[in-house]
Amino acid sequence: MDKKQLESLKQHNEQLAQVIIRLSNFYEGASTEVDKELKTLRSHLSGKPNITLAAVSIGKLNNLLMQNAQSLKKQTTDTISRLESAIKRLQRSDSITSELKSETARFLSSLSMQSGSLFSSLPQFERALILYQQALDNEPKNTNGQSTNGQTVAEAQTQDALSQPIDERLHANITAELQGLIEPYYQKNKSDKQLSEVRKKLLDGLTQHELLECCLVLIRLIVKDVVREAGVNGQVIDGLHRSIISINQDVSQTIEITQSQFENKAKHHQNLQTQISDMGEVVNQSDDLDKLKSEAQQYLEKMQDSISQHQEADKEEEEKLILLLQNMQRELTSMEKKTQQYRKKLLEQRSQTHMDPLTKIPNRIAYNERIEQEYQRWLRTKAPLCMAVVDIDHFKSINDKYGHAAGDKTLQVIAKQLKGKLRKTDFLARWGGEEFVILFPDSELKDLLAPLEEIRKKMESLPFKFKQEPVTITASFGLAKFANEDTVESVFDRADKHLYSAKNNGRNQIVSDQS
Ligand code: GH3
Ligand code: MG
Ligand code: MG
Repeated sequence: MDKKQLESLKQHNEQLAQVIIRLSNFYEGASTEVDKELKTLRSHLSGKPNITLAAVSIGKLNNLLMQNAQSLKKQTTDTISRLESAIKRLQRSDSITSELKSETARFLSSLSMQSGSLFSSLPQFERALILYQQALDNEPKNTNGQSTNGQTVAEAQTQDALSQPIDERLHANITAELQGLIEPYYQKNKSDKQLSEVRKKLLDGLTQHELLECCLVLIRLIVKDVVREAGVNGQVIDGLHRSIISINQDVSQTIEITQSQFENKAKHHQNLQTQISDMGEVVNQSDDLDKLKSEAQQYLEKMQDSISQHQEADKEEEEKLILLLQNMQRELTSMEKKTQQYRKKLLEQRSQTHMDPLTKIPNRIAYNERIEQEYQRWLRTKAPLCMAVVDIDHFKSINDKYGHAAGDKTLQVIAKQLKGKLRKTDFLARWGGEEFVILFPDSELKDLLAPLEEIRKKMESLPFKFKQEPVTITASFGLAKFANEDTVESVFDRADKHLYSAKNNGRNQIVSDQS
């Protein structure tokens, strides 16, 4: 290898290492395992590259990316099993016709033959939606004599029982869940009429029949969204997978070439060695100078030939090696682009799924993650930990008097106020509707009463004005501290009970474990 080629090879190696550095930076935070492996790969390829270890590292990376693809597949299987239990529930409902019952049975047996691929499941989602739609259409529209679809009054009355609130608490829970689910879609598509209507209904209260319809609208939205996301992620993982395979092949070839170069060199040295020792023999035994000269000439020519042949072969191999390294570099560059796109998507998704789109503060998913961390820390260290539940007083009347837009604006202002008044280490989330939850790590309950009182007073004095009318908005607070055998649920329940005492005592006040 001449100096120029060596230089170029060295340069390629350096470029390669730099690509890997960037690649590992791009991945940082998205997957710690991939991040770690990329760092290892980088260390194998930097300085004096160790291609054998690099190949091992690339193999590991390949597996990690395949696992990513597998977890996507698992999500799909989980979704299908949820779909299956939803249809089973429908099948158990007394309100559906026997025809629809056998239709759901057929559907369930076809579902059990699913391959688990999201795309092949799409028609099944469609079919499930149609079944639900049919179940809804079968519900009686009137009860005088014949119902709209020709059912008898008795049949219609059985179905009517379904539209009665079986369990008000469950009804309220489902409504709250749907409110949370619909919010991100509503914030993204405020001009969508159907979505606005559904959201309004959810906020104003709705019958069981309407609740079912809202479920349908949401299922459609979510399925559409899931399919789009899965499509994007699947493509990226596929692309990365292919790039890694290609790099892996290049690295194996590089190893083969380096090995064959080494063997050729050894053979060549052996040849030269033999020729030199043969020549030594001839010199030792010869007494005729002319004969010696001509023999020496022959040996030198042979050696010359062997050297130039070897140089030729060396050059060819090196060119191949450079080509492979260039290929590898190209693949890594394309991989870098794909991971950049993927990582951006992951980070976006993470922040979207953890943030309440209306108030721009953490949502219930974020709260669930955080409370678990804080709880574990409390179990370990027993450092004081408190939780407050905040509920706006008579909030429904704001919506009723001034409209939902005014209600929305109020929520945004209050969330901002709360956030501004808390310490950096405190954690505020929108629990749902007009309720917030605050975690106070490393805080004693007695030390929180004064600052919370200040927040309450500040809220009371906020100068809201709707339709030219000044409006006073207040909130009630329930505050509890983790103690003894507490669990997350027991503390939340206690804070919630305090909140309801505050409501019953006239609202606009704080009730705590110490009250
Ligand atoms: P209380 O003092 O007992 O808490 O009375 P309230 O009216 O605040 O409580 P209730 O639970 O009866 O009503 C809460 C209302 O909050 C119902 C719903 O319309 C409204 N709401 C929930 N989420 C939103 C939202 O995102 N935007 C708007 N505009 N209103 C919401
Ligand atoms: Mg409430
Ligand atoms: Mg309220």
